[in-house]
Amino acid sequence: PLPVVAIVGRPNVGKSTLVNRVLRRREAVVEDVPGVTRDRVAYEAEWAGRRFTLLDTGGWEATPEGVFLKVAEQAEVAIEMADAVLFVVDAMVGATDDDEAVVRLLRRSGKPVVLVANKVDDLHQEAEAAALWNLGLGQPWPVSALHGRGSGDVLDAMLDVL
Ligand code: GDP
Ligand code: MG
Repeated sequence: PLPVVAIVGRPNVGKSTLVNRVLRRREAVVEDVPGVTRDRVAYEAEWAGRRFTLLDTGGWEATPEGVFLKVAEQAEVAIEMADAVLFVVDAMVGATDDDEAVVRLLRRSGKPVVLVANKVDDLHQEAEAAALWNLGLGQPWPVSALHGRGSGDVLDAMLDVL
């Protein structure tokens, strides 16, 4: 069986966009508005000649009280299945309480984590990415899943820990 890489993070941070970036095709459904229920989806992917299963997550429901639990539950299942985790944070929003909750799950899991500071579309936004050092997960990799900026570097980093 292929090693499993899970992509976890809050709704709307760009997880599915990152999946599509890795796959180099539009297979994962990208939502402009958070709140559509989606199932966890596995894709067979390859980077730098190595194959792995990429696990997208996003089956939340956008009820104001329910979001936290759904995000954490989703993340927990995906982390459990994973050999390595790409944890995606919206660098333009910064770390939220939901992000912090996922960080605690990641720590407890002991699984290798690569921190994706997404939506860094321009060089001058990299300062926002650097603020995510505060999460204590090591280096935040500035990425624009939408435009591809930095995505190669973060995938190389992911293969290093896989
Ligand atoms: P998910 O809920 O985490 O899977 O997020 P999606 O991949 O569905 O993306 C949510 C929204 O963020 C969509 O409108 C995307 O186009 C947008 N988005 C994703 N990545 C980026 C990025 O790198 N830069 C910008 N500016 N927008 C992005
Ligand atoms: Mg998604």
